[in-house]
Amino acid sequence: AGSGKFFVGGNWKCNGTKESITKLVSDLNSATLEADVDVVVAPPFVYIDQVKSSLTGRVEISAQNCWIGKGGAFTGEISVEQLKDLGCQWVILGHSERRHVIGEQNEFIGKKAAYALNQGVGVIACIGELLEEREAGKTFDVCYQQLKAFADALPSWDNVVVAYEPVWAIGTGKVASPDQAQEVHVAVRDWLKKNVSEEVASKTRIIYGGSVNGGNCAELAKQEDIDGFLVGGASLKGPEFATIVNSVT
Ligand code: PEP
Repeated sequence: AGSGKFFVGGNWKCNGTKESITKLVSDLNSATLEADVDVVVAPPFVYIDQVKSSLTGRVEISAQNCWIGKGGAFTGEISVEQLKDLGCQWVILGHSERRHVIGEQNEFIGKKAAYALNQGVGVIACIGELLEEREAGKTFDVCYQQLKAFADALPSWDNVVVAYEPVWAIGTGKVASPDQAQEVHVAVRDWLKKNVSEEVASKTRIIYGGSVNGGNCAELAKQEDIDGFLVGGASLKGPEFATIVNSVT
């Protein structure tokens, strides 16, 4: 971990029921969480209100997506204003499942991020390469293109956390090695330094996501440029998520 405050997000994806989420919230409420860590969970939209009203204020709430602008005649979408109304401080944007399963493009994602930031909602900006891109030696190029789309659109990086999530590691049980993750985190920081500013490069937290669990988090957290984690599967288990939060020492 670097010098910024460690940041751990739990992405619950499209999982849970009122009952299972009641249990998860109760486990999080009774967990001991290291004080010097920002902890955020992202429930499905329909459970945000339930989570907000039952979860300790120690843990902040994120959405998993948002509409690109102000609400209105956009059937099935959820606006940033509505997220704020429910008490969400963050939104995850550019997640690989939205890029590769739903088909969201760089420019669309950048516009959403800009709108959220302009409304005062923080952005967890996800980037990461596919397995075939890594095998073709294109990891850095893909990450840089995705970063550029954010950089071109964002009004400021003040409220942004970058999540490096290699697609081949998400939900597969194949975690990147600490060296593999560190290598890309350094490249991302370098890109920010050259293309945004030295200040943004040094203060922006770059977190890793992709099959992080209670067993592998400590080794990853030792890396100089890994400033936290975005956790999918393991965030559905309160005690294991707490272990990940507490992996920074
Ligand atoms: C994610 O979806 O952001 C993620 C990292 O998932 P998992 O931890 O399950 O690989």
